[in-house]
Amino acid sequence: MLTEANDIMVTINDTTLRDGEQTAGVAFSADEKIAIAEALSRAGVQELEIGIPVMGTAEIELIQAITHLHLPARLMAWGRMCESDLLAIARCNVNIVNLSIPVSDVQIKHKLGRDREWVLEQIQAFVPRALDLGFEVCVGGEDASRADSDFLLTVAATVQQAGAQRFRFADTLGLLDPFATYGRLNLLRQEVDIDLEMHAHNDLGLATANTLAAILAGATHANTTVNGLGERAGNAPLEEVVMSLRHLYSIESNIDTTQFPHISQLVAAASGRPVPVNKSIVGDAVFTHESGIHVDGIIKNPLNYEGFSPTEVGREHRTVLGKHSGSHSVIDAYAKLGLILSELEAHSLLNMIRIHAILTKCTPSVDDLKRFYLENAACTGMPS
Ligand SMILES: [Zn+2]
Repeated sequence: MLTEANDIMVTINDTTLRDGEQTAGVAFSADEKIAIAEALSRAGVQELEIGIPVMGTAEIELIQAITHLHLPARLMAWGRMCESDLLAIARCNVNIVNLSIPVSDVQIKHKLGRDREWVLEQIQAFVPRALDLGFEVCVGGEDASRADSDFLLTVAATVQQAGAQRFRFADTLGLLDPFATYGRLNLLRQEVDIDLEMHAHNDLGLATANTLAAILAGATHANTTVNGLGERAGNAPLEEVVMSLRHLYSIESNIDTTQFPHISQLVAAASGRPVPVNKSIVGDAVFTHESGIHVDGIIKNPLNYEGFSPTEVGREHRTVLGKHSGSHSVIDAYAKLGLILSELEAHSLLNMIRIHAILTKCTPSVDDLKRFYLENAACTGMPS
C-alpha cells in the first residue's frame, strides 16, 4: 500500500557539483562551483554533494572553499569505500560522506574481482572509521538495481548495523522503471530504519519517475542535478523532482522554485550544456503558446492550458506567431505595434507568417512583422 503522500518528508540532496560534473566533457571552475553552491543553498536546497576529494589537492581545496562559505545547506563529499578515498575525505570539513561500493554481482566480480562477503566486510570496516572522523555516513550501493534482491537487503542491514545513517540506492545504469523501483525501495524500507536515498539515472528517460516512486516507497532523500546534468543521460532533474512532488503529491521541499530559471542558466553556462528549449520547467519554450486555439484559451483563462502557473518558477506565459496562429493573434500582435489591421490584411499577413515559419523554423521578429506589413501593403496597393 502506498504511503500517504502528505505524511512524507523529503530531503533534496543535489549532486550537480559531483555527478553533474562527471558528465563527459564538463568541468566547473572554482568560481562556477562556488556560484552554483551558493545559488542552490540560497534557494533552500538542503544538501549538496560537492565533490570527490581523492581527485587531489585542487579538488580538496575547492571543497574546502565551499565549506568555508558556511552555507545553510549541509555538504557531502563522495568517495569509494577504500583507504585512499577515506584519507582524502578526512581532509575535508564536510558534514556527510557518501562511501560508495558496488553491490551487484556483475560489478563485485568483474569490476573489483571480489565477492559478496568482501563487500559486507568493507562496510563493517569503513563505516565506523568514517563515523570516528566525525562524519554523518551514507553508504552508496552502486548498481543496486542489478544487485541480488536478498543480498541488497543484507547490505542495507549491514549498513545500519555498522552505524551509518543512510543508504543510497544507486540506479547507476538507469535500468529500472517506477514499478521495480517502488518494489525494491519498499523492501529496503521494511528491512531497515535508516534513511534511504534514491540516486536515479535517466538512460531510459525515467529518472524523475523512479525518484518519485522511491519516495512513495519510503525513500527519505532524493539525489538530483540541475537540468538533469550527469553521467551519460544524466540524473533526475532538481526542477522536475521538486515540482512533481509539489503538484502530484503535495510534498513541499521548501525550495524557492522561482530561482529555478536562474540556477538552470547558471549551470547551463558553467557546464557548456545548453538547456533544450522544450526542457520541462526551465526550457525557453515551455510556457510559449502559438496555436490559435491555445492562445485564445489562455487569454480567456490561463487555467485552460496550464497545469501550474509559470509564476511558480519565476516565469510567465508568452505567445508567439507561427504556422498555427489564428488571425486574431495577428491582429493583436500588430495592434501592439500601433498598426490596426482589417480582417483581410490579417489574413494576408497570416499567410506570410506561415511561410516564414516553414522556411526559417522561427517565429517572426518585430522587424519581420513590420517588413511583412510593408510588403503586403505594397502588393495590395494599400497605404502603409
Ligand atoms: Zn550517478
